[in-house]
Amino acid sequence: MPDLSTQSARPGVEREELEFDVLFVGAGPSNLAGLWRLLDLIEAHNAQPGARRLEGLTIGLIEKGDEIGDHAFSGAVLDPAALRELCPDYRERGFPSEGEVTREEVWLFTERSGMRAPFPPPFLRNHGHPIVSLSRMVRWMAGQIEQREVPGVDVMLLPGFAGSKVLWADGRVAGVQTADKGVNADGSPRGNFEPGNCFKAKVTVFGEGPRGHLARELDEVLGLQAGAVNPQLYETGAKEIWEIPAGQVPDGFVLHSTGWPQADGESGGSFVYKMSGDRLAVGYVVSLDTQDPFADAQLALQKFKTHPRIRPMLEGGRMIQYGAKALAIGGWYSMPKLAFAGGMLVGDAAQMVNAARLKGIHLGMKSGLCAAETILRALLEDDFGEASLMRYAQGFLASWAGTELYRTRNFHQILAHGLSPAAALKLGVSLVAGGWVPGEPLRGTADAERTATTEAFYGKAGVKRDALDWGVKYDGRLCIPKLDDVYASGVMHDEHQPGHLKIVKGDQVCVACWNTKGSPCTVFCPAQVYEMHPDADGRVAAVAIAFSNCVHCKTCDIKCPEGNVVWTPPEGGGGPKYTLC
Ligand SMILES: Cc1cc2nc3c(=O)[nH]c(=O)nc-3n(C[C@H](O)[C@H](O)[C@H](O)COP(=O)(O)OP(=O)(O)OC[C@H]3O[C@@H](n4cnc5c(N)ncnc54)[C@H](O)[C@@H]3O)c2cc1C
Repeated sequence: MPDLSTQSARPGVEREELEFDVLFVGAGPSNLAGLWRLLDLIEAHNAQPGARRLEGLTIGLIEKGDEIGDHAFSGAVLDPAALRELCPDYRERGFPSEGEVTREEVWLFTERSGMRAPFPPPFLRNHGHPIVSLSRMVRWMAGQIEQREVPGVDVMLLPGFAGSKVLWADGRVAGVQTADKGVNADGSPRGNFEPGNCFKAKVTVFGEGPRGHLARELDEVLGLQAGAVNPQLYETGAKEIWEIPAGQVPDGFVLHSTGWPQADGESGGSFVYKMSGDRLAVGYVVSLDTQDPFADAQLALQKFKTHPRIRPMLEGGRMIQYGAKALAIGGWYSMPKLAFAGGMLVGDAAQMVNAARLKGIHLGMKSGLCAAETILRALLEDDFGEASLMRYAQGFLASWAGTELYRTRNFHQILAHGLSPAAALKLGVSLVAGGWVPGEPLRGTADAERTATTEAFYGKAGVKRDALDWGVKYDGRLCIPKLDDVYASGVMHDEHQPGHLKIVKGDQVCVACWNTKGSPCTVFCPAQVYEMHPDADGRVAAVAIAFSNCVHCKTCDIKCPEGNVVWTPPEGGGGPKYTLC
């Protein structure tokens, strides 16, 4: 893989160096929980009579969003297990709950009707759990951290800084370099040029979420995925937040469904969560290892809203925010090596999601808590080598979070081809046998590899998006055109900078893909970033990339059947502006 961090590869430029003891990359719930717990542990350690005090420590956290929370996107119903461990009095401290689950529905939908489960299966029981906006939740977590004063520790929360490459020293991770700002598309600096910084650290915690750019570099150099049974696997979720008439949906209501609009043999599902202030979160996730080359979460969501069980909930309402993001669903068998000399991986960056429950926030937070315990010990022993940091992996895998992931280790593979009778039987066996199924471990195929050609899936080689009937009438009220949705994500990038979506194998690969495969990226991207513009003879020369629309979901990097798109971080501060997602 060539060095893609063009924004940062600038010989001769002087870069400010900052030395941290601990650096967290990404302000998701995993890293914020880790940083918060580390402060607790240092404070408690220093308060022990006779303990060798830890003093003069600097801890940094960088986040590519303009503000912490801008890029946070989830469902979300939260299992509060890790939050309770971190902050038992979270309610008293103003935790931003949208309400607690009191009514649950689980459905297998057909186009016009469906079958409602008489009671939710054990893995989808959410009674009493808080409904949250992850964006609001991580803002609250960052606020709690900012209020802390821990003697002997300096904490720097640094939003607007995107980690663009890993810094290495003697074969070990030594921190990250952030992306330059103020660079023209041709690479030349503008008047407002700010070189990226070198943030050096004794230990760097990578919590970039799904399909991390730095995590990819770590894997390429250190082979972190080599010991995993399965490759990393993903879904993409698209979600709209609606304002609805007061009382139309009761407080505490949540609904999950599978089936329509997914085709038979494909896997995906929906979620509908009542939020505070007469708002409703409506979302749809599609598995990216589906064979459908045109799997489009935004389109599935538009269809889903027309179902007779869903449409009345939205009647008289209006969509106020939209977002999309990949979700790591490989689980136990897709987890990479979690620690190495100078660094650790936490949360979605390490596939820590329970696909059965559509939940990863509590597992990611628990990984942050376990990482913090190991970091304290490493600071005390001044040992940041692999053996020292691997205690984190041992602690996490032996914790309740490890057990939860282990018990659902085959879940995604069981349902990867849809909910057939055979799959239902296997699911039942796995539920009573602690996750075991005949044929254990079930193998998964990387998302792009399992993707079929248009010929195999739609019966025509190179069929184009516009030649297919998608079965949606876009009225702008219930069914929202993709670009209108994108507008509602608040996405913004400085358009002068070099495009951050890199075509690594060249435009000719995209042209061939258009002719033979119909350019799936022009459909599956939930933000309409990719377009092909044929001339009068129907020929195309290159793919047109509207990178400023990119909501950082990473679907293109995962699903491009040619492996031709690599997502790299744009300059810090650009991207969506989520406040309710
Ligand atoms: C549609 C959908 C529905 C979901 N529903 C639920 C649910 O109901 N309940 C539940 O528990 N979980 C749910 N999840 C999963 C949950 O959101 C994730 O498991 C969780 O957010 C993972 O947390 P994280 O901190 O590991 O990563 P993230 O939340 O992804 O946070 C990563 C952060 O790192 C930043 N970042 C990334 N790269 C860089 C970089 N190079 N430099 C600087 N910053 C960077 C990102 O901007 C982001 O802020 C859902 C996910 C999706 C997509």
